Amino acid sequence: MLDLVLPLQCGGCGAAGTRWCPICARELAVRPDEPHVVTPRVDPGVPVLSLGRYAGSRRRAIVALKEHGRADLAAPLAEALTTALSNLLTWNVLDTPLTVVPAPTRRSAARRRGGDPITRIADKAATGLPGLTVRPALHLKAFTRDSVGLSSADRQRNIAGRIRVSTPVGGAVIVVDDVVTTGATAAESVRALQTRGADVLAVLALAHA
Ligand SMILES: [Zn+2]
Repeated sequence: MLDLVLPLQCGGCGAAGTRWCPICARELAVRPDEPHVVTPRVDPGVPVLSLGRYAGSRRRAIVALKEHGRADLAAPLAEALTTALSNLLTWNVLDTPLTVVPAPTRRSAARRRGGDPITRIADKAATGLPGLTVRPALHLKAFTRDSVGLSSADRQRNIAGRIRVSTPVGGAVIVVDDVVTTGATAAESVRALQTRGADVLAVLALAHA
C-alpha cells in the first residue's frame, strides 16, 4: 500500500527504484568474524554482541522500520541476524536447543508502529535455523518512559524492575535487541530472565550506539 503513495526507495540510502540496494546490502552483510563483542556502560553480566555500529544504512534501516513503517526492511535485517546467529552456533558460543527472546518494546510504541519489529525480525531469522524458538516473553510494565534523551544513570533508574517475564522461559536463552546503547535495557532483560531460571548465554543486537 505504501507503494501507492511513496516512490520506491532504498531504506538505507534513499536510492530510487529499489527497496534495498546492493551497496546497502553489502554494508549490512555479516562477515565470518562477526558479530563482535561490545562493552556497554551497564554490564549485563553476559557477553553483548553487535552486528555493527548504529550508523549509515544500518541505522537508517532500523529507523525506517521502527518509525516510518518500512516493514519490508525486516527482511534484510533478519537475514543479517540469521548469519550472526549461525556464526555464533558455528563457534559454539551458542548451542541448540535455544530460545530467542526479543528485548521488550513499549506496548503503546509497538502498537503505534504496527507490531513489534524486533520480534518480527527474530521470527524471520529463526525460521532458517533448526533448534531455535522465538519467545516474546519480555514486557515493559506500564508507565515506563521512553528512554530517548535520558542519561545512562537515568535509563538504568527508568528501567530497573520495570521488565516482567510473561511466560516461563527455561534452558538456554539469547536476548535479541535492535540497538544497544547504555546496556540498561539489556541488563534488566537478562536479570529478569535469570530471576525466572533462564540460562542467558548472551545478548545480540542489530547495532550498538
Ligand atoms: Zn541503499
